[in-house]
Amino acid sequence: TPDAMQADSTTTATCGYCATGCGLRLHVREGEAIGLTPETDYPVNLGMACPKGWEALEVLNSENRATHPLLREPDGRMQQVTWDTALTTFTKRFKEIQAKYGNESVAFLSTGQIVCEEMAFLGALAKFGMGILHGDGNTRQCMATAVTAYKQSLGFDSPPYTYEDFEQSDCLVFIGANPCIGHPIMWERVLRNQKSPEIIVVDPRRTETAMASSQHLQLRPKSDLALLYAITNHLIAANLIDYDFVNANTEGFEELAAHVSEFTPEVVSDRCGISVLDIRRAAESIGRADAASLWWTMGVNQSYEGTRVAQAIINIALITGNFGRPGTGANSITGQCNAMGSRLWSNTTNLLGHYRFESDQDRDRVANNLGIDVDRIPNQGSWAYDEIVEGIRQGKIKGLWVIATNPAHSWIHRGDFRELLDQLEFLVVQDMYDQTETAKHADLVLPAAGWGEKVGTFINSERRYGLVKKVRKAPGEALADFQIFRAIAAYWGVGDLFSEWTEPEAVFRILQRLSEHRPNDITGIDGYAQLDACGGIQWPYTKAEAEEQSPPRQQRRLFSDGIFFHESGKAKLIVDQVFPMPEPPDENYPFLLLTGRGTVSQWHTQTRTENSKVLRKLYPQQPYVEIHPRDAQSIGVVNGDVVNVRSRRGSINVTSMVTPTVQRGQVFIPMHYRIVNELTLAHFDPHSHQPSYKDCAVQISRETS
Ligand code: SF4
Repeated sequence: TPDAMQADSTTTATCGYCATGCGLRLHVREGEAIGLTPETDYPVNLGMACPKGWEALEVLNSENRATHPLLREPDGRMQQVTWDTALTTFTKRFKEIQAKYGNESVAFLSTGQIVCEEMAFLGALAKFGMGILHGDGNTRQCMATAVTAYKQSLGFDSPPYTYEDFEQSDCLVFIGANPCIGHPIMWERVLRNQKSPEIIVVDPRRTETAMASSQHLQLRPKSDLALLYAITNHLIAANLIDYDFVNANTEGFEELAAHVSEFTPEVVSDRCGISVLDIRRAAESIGRADAASLWWTMGVNQSYEGTRVAQAIINIALITGNFGRPGTGANSITGQCNAMGSRLWSNTTNLLGHYRFESDQDRDRVANNLGIDVDRIPNQGSWAYDEIVEGIRQGKIKGLWVIATNPAHSWIHRGDFRELLDQLEFLVVQDMYDQTETAKHADLVLPAAGWGEKVGTFINSERRYGLVKKVRKAPGEALADFQIFRAIAAYWGVGDLFSEWTEPEAVFRILQRLSEHRPNDITGIDGYAQLDACGGIQWPYTKAEAEEQSPPRQQRRLFSDGIFFHESGKAKLIVDQVFPMPEPPDENYPFLLLTGRGTVSQWHTQTRTENSKVLRKLYPQQPYVEIHPRDAQSIGVVNGDVVNVRSRRGSINVTSMVTPTVQRGQVFIPMHYRIVNELTLAHFDPHSHQPSYKDCAVQISRETS
């Protein structure tokens, strides 16, 4: 590229958008990155990047960047203030609230976007330093279901795969996942598969991935659990079970078989809208493959029974012996660049590093490791995100600190949530951008550096720690989140607790200590320099392994020994009843609204991606709704008409896109548009507390004005 010609040096860093975790080569002149290209040697992306990665530097230049602390004046205006004023105010206001209402009255909402070292610092500072009891991450909105499912089924939050598995499967099943646009580099890895694999897509929409599949099970929304039980039923009926694996490595097969005996393909066919033949064919493709892998994302996770759906997927992989071998696995694909870091290190519902707040032994171990008094560690986990929101509603939470997330756009039934934000006595938003929907409600904005302006590690979807580097200066007075947390610790008067937390790599060493002899053991990693040299390293990588195998293998999968993380060493086969949809369409609201990712070029709430001209051009600027041609005809709508979409909670106007990619009775609006969550219904998976975004009933009419 022209930038490369002008560079005086290059360096590699992990991309800061999605959990694929691609390596990007940054072209640097006089200490500032002036361009980038995908890294050809990085074992994740092998020289490829999606448009967001290519534009990663551009979005840092936006005029929307937060450059100075801003404090709301009594007249409502935001006023630029010094860091000293900002931090003094932060400390004074939160301490006053805690003194008046108790420590539980201040909470934090964090993210999957900051590095592991910052994630851990935030959690430790908030809980061990500031006495905050409740905090959760925005990963509750995307990955909590997978975490809960893995923990209950396998004994630890442990996505087992490595990306090579995309290339080594004979049969790949994508359930509620659209990697063609959601994870395009992972899809590129599928395209490298030389085995002509069977590709099965389970999705109510005819997505880009469904169009590329060999079998599309275009099921009725929220019939996935019944369908997966029917596939399980047929695997048993057709004798496609790996009984050696089941007997040696799992518990609960008898109960599973009894449970799914009711779910014959004949019984569930109508309910799912899938023919008996297609259900049997899919089951047999999985059961007869030498190596089958099952992959899922938000279509599963964002559901009122998502945990059980994820476990039905895990069950299928287990009973067919598709675990621990190349090309296999029940594989949750993660969303954000450091969702996996958040899962491990955010110190929210789990104690730092997936320990338990409720266990004296675990609290002792963490306290000893950090050199702090064990009494500083609460003996209960945090409220989950939805409970924190309820805490605001009930007046129990009066102060909120929001870090690198935009819940006023993304939280389910956001109109309600925005009103709750205004009930708070003090709202602090710490972000790269000061014009987000959430920042507009803030009393104090702390300007943060972004990707490329700080150092640390991300963990990608396949458990790979990758290095993030500082290749340019943050604008104005924006600081790395790490520096902000250090400063807050000092202003709060607990700087001594964090005397070892001097820089990100020092914290990485603390995380290594905490991981020792755990499933996620990374004590074998010889610091940032080795991560940089090796193209990242997947956990686990223990000291003992490092002695045998250095540099570490570039690809590693879990459970190749068939030993799972429960005390018994066996995986649990978990089943449950199938529940009805909480708000099914009816005569007043006859359509079911689905939401999800709409394009490869936009990311979540568009906080960053809307700041790139190139990415904006790749995506319609006007919100749109996909509607089936016959439904459009029945309500007198043609392509491009403005239509009103109304639910029991809100109403929005969008442009119609008439397309057969949705089935009759369903409509789809991409989640990137901030108005879509005016409509959604706030209900949750009871096990994971994850919001169920993809089922709310709506009515549609043509706008005449
Ligand atoms: Fe970055 Fe994800 Fe795109 Fe890779 S696929 S370049 S990690 S946004």
